[in-house]
Amino acid sequence: MADNIIIRVQSPDGMKKIPSTKRETAAAFLKKVAKEFGFNSNGFSIYLNRNKTGEILSQNKTLSLLKIKHGDMLFLFPSGSSGSSGEVMDTVQEDEIDQYLAKQDGKIYRNRDPQLCRHGALGKCVHCVPLEPFDEDYLNHLDPPVKHMSFHAYIRKLTGGADKGKFAALENISCKIKSGCEGHPPWPEGICTKCQPSAITLNRQKYRHVDNIMFENHTIADRFLDFWRKTGSQRMGYLYGRYTEHKDIPLGIRAEVAAIYEPPQNATQNSLELLEDPKAAAVEEIAAKLGLCKVGWIFTDLLSEDTRIGTVRYSRNKDSYYLSAEECITAGYFQNQQPNPCRLSREGHFGSKFVTVVATGGPDNQVHFEGYQVSNQCMALVRDECLLPCRDAPELGYAKESSPEQYVPDVFYKDKDKFGNDVTFLARPLPVEYLIIDITTTFPKDPQYTFSSTQRFPIENRDVLGETQDFHSLATYLSQCTSTVFLDIVSDFHLLLFLVTNEVMPLRDSIGLLLDAVKTSNEDLAQTWKKSEQWATIEQLCSKSPSIKEGTVSKPHVELDLCCTLMHVLCHPVLSRYTCPAVKVPVATPLHPALTLSRPTLNSPMTSPCGDQLRDLDALFFHPTS
Ligand SMILES: [Zn+2]
Ligand SMILES: [Zn+2]
Repeated sequence: MADNIIIRVQSPDGMKKIPSTKRETAAAFLKKVAKEFGFNSNGFSIYLNRNKTGEILSQNKTLSLLKIKHGDMLFLFPSGSSGSSGEVMDTVQEDEIDQYLAKQDGKIYRNRDPQLCRHGALGKCVHCVPLEPFDEDYLNHLDPPVKHMSFHAYIRKLTGGADKGKFAALENISCKIKSGCEGHPPWPEGICTKCQPSAITLNRQKYRHVDNIMFENHTIADRFLDFWRKTGSQRMGYLYGRYTEHKDIPLGIRAEVAAIYEPPQNATQNSLELLEDPKAAAVEEIAAKLGLCKVGWIFTDLLSEDTRIGTVRYSRNKDSYYLSAEECITAGYFQNQQPNPCRLSREGHFGSKFVTVVATGGPDNQVHFEGYQVSNQCMALVRDECLLPCRDAPELGYAKESSPEQYVPDVFYKDKDKFGNDVTFLARPLPVEYLIIDITTTFPKDPQYTFSSTQRFPIENRDVLGETQDFHSLATYLSQCTSTVFLDIVSDFHLLLFLVTNEVMPLRDSIGLLLDAVKTSNEDLAQTWKKSEQWATIEQLCSKSPSIKEGTVSKPHVELDLCCTLMHVLCHPVLSRYTCPAVKVPVATPLHPALTLSRPTLNSPMTSPCGDQLRDLDALFFHPTS
């Protein structure tokens, strides 16, 4: 029968193959595993991933519903082996920035105060003694005030300041029934105080995993916005860069953005939908070889206000919302995909450093970049599928109710009632401001360039704009490059992606040297690679591809091309991908709003009632505010 499947289960004592069926429930499967491995009770947990994420719980969902397929490998850990709380997971490889900050002193040093200090130059008193990195009074008096301490300052606070040998234990929140409970049948038939997840009271997170987002230069953001300028459709991209020290805040972390990768997506003026990306793994690999990682995502929510002066509508503010519930859930989903490796958590990970940036209209009707993360509470609610968006009120989420398929713990939040008293509310609905942490987003005074090319190779997945990545566009690109420094010519993230992933002549294995050259800005290395066979082949492919080089093509030819192109664009928008790169495609919204960078403060009272209809999450929708 086609329903029969074999699941592999890896345990500390070895691997076993468990025969099962697609329609078997997780509960029945777990019982079978217990028998097979000789566990008397259910004293073990099974996970989808080796790093103990994606636990398979005893429930009535079938294996096929849980997306467990024939041949899949699952990971079994006996319950006793996860270590007691407070134990440091020394096997966890933390990010470099975390290893660096853990070694820093972090103290806030102050000079002798000429008015208050009554001691000599070498003395110290209460007015000048160094402060701890989590000193809230100090953070509140920064300009602008800092509402969240850094994550590493928070760890210092838990351990009582400097490393005194104490360990902070960080517990990941779980909204799921604990596995391995004996003495009663699985949910919905049974639940007890031992296995029931605790109720959650949402509070504003005191710390944040990232304290600042910095785009290396305006060009990165500007090229991303170009898509909206030319089509009027919204756009989404992944931010690639690195985590560095953010020196403005004690033990702070900055997410530096070096490039934006635009995955395949369906976009309209009011919605964004991500599509399956066959190149996702290759992009990750190339980025890693360039010393970069996925630090976050960015999306536009832009609507032009006055096309003559290029202004955009100011729609996200304290009277509407900063992030919609759908966006919070999507951010939570991404953050769960990119967990923060952490030695202080039993599971080896805690929170996430993955950031969310919205490009939207500010109070001055210019394009602003607003940075956020969602709280670790929100991550847990999203991971355990407890949170839904409301259909008619983007600023409201909704904590699911328990069903035979799923137990959902009660979720509460505290707010003031109309008399000013603290009241606890059930999170049905829930104002998403309880889930959001804002992060200042900046551009440096002196722009930086990981990718130094001054020419622009077409960005991936923009065929709809007539901007295609092929050897024709590569020929054009190369003909426009005036630099004699080969490193400058190849130092373009989108070009490197094309060289690796194109179907005609993919450079998968042979491009390591070139990526290394770009990573270390080494022209000698780049020159060595230029002499390779691969580059010779690419140049050959380019020469065969008809290219329009300045001065080499007679004028009538260009006009003919232009004519054909316009015909294509006008009659068959789909064919506009054959546009010759030298010709500008007519644009829907020819705007060039200047970039300005400041952000309003986050202070959104709950005003709107909830529509009791809830939405499924398949695409992000933007809700025009009137
Ligand atoms: Zn003093
Ligand atoms: Zn129980």
